[in-house]
Amino acid sequence: MRTVLALAAAISLSVAGTAAFAQKAQAPASAAKCDNPNALGVARVVEIDTTGGPGFGFEHFKAYDFLQDKEVVLTFDDGPWPGHTPAVLKALADQCTKALFFPIGKHAGWHPEILKRVVAAGHTVGSHTWSHKDLSRMTTQEATDEIEKGIAAVSIALGGKPIAPFFRFPALRHPPEMLKYLAERNVGIFSTDLDSFDFKVRKPEQVIKNVMSKLASKGKGIILMHDFQQTTASAAPELLKQLKEGGYKVVQITGQTPTEPKKEYVDMVLKEMGGGLDEARPMSSVIKTIQSN
Ligand SMILES: [Zn+2]
Repeated sequence: MRTVLALAAAISLSVAGTAAFAQKAQAPASAAKCDNPNALGVARVVEIDTTGGPGFGFEHFKAYDFLQDKEVVLTFDDGPWPGHTPAVLKALADQCTKALFFPIGKHAGWHPEILKRVVAAGHTVGSHTWSHKDLSRMTTQEATDEIEKGIAAVSIALGGKPIAPFFRFPALRHPPEMLKYLAERNVGIFSTDLDSFDFKVRKPEQVIKNVMSKLASKGKGIILMHDFQQTTASAAPELLKQLKEGGYKVVQITGQTPTEPKKEYVDMVLKEMGGGLDEARPMSSVIKTIQSN
């Protein structure tokens, strides 16, 4: 399987100036200019051809060592979540930098307006299953449903658009039959190079320390964090500042060909969420507190 992946997949590199073009598949390219002259920014944009489901992140996949020394990829899982995801978005915007998000399908269904903001800001949004179950403990059919409902829910939340062709397995458990399924689906898989363990620690300083100390020893890497976690929302501004001061450079990930949700799963998710999700307006424009005592 490794040989097939190696033959099938290719990574093309482009410079940051072509970011708007590279984002064509998903985002209304972020037109916002950077007002921070000392911003971390984006050093380069990488476009990945996900044909055959290539895997990235040295914890599990060693075929593609595409990062150069001092380069990092910022990844955020388990959102979108009120308060925390917007805080992460603000920290990224203040540093004029971009990240790769892996939202949970159910959370996307609950907070589509937040997920829309992630894409509108020019970030890349893949998927992370429907309800964050460990797929290695499920039947093939159940695991397939989890993956496809996750893709469908993210797509619906984004207004029925195809999504970035990237997936991260919950708890980084990679059942072989699901790797095969995603290979056939041409979805790239992101594991990690270094885990912030932000779901285990309560102090933002500890998240920053975990990331910076691991980077100091590895020199580069795909960083796993969670925009779902309060700790990371609090840590993000200082972490990005320290990355800049440490001379690290952010690589933005984009997909060459977006992933289309399957119609039967779109129908299933709409039914399960009670419908109306695809037409939902931002909650703040629908429901407003006009009096409180
Ligand atoms: Zn997760």
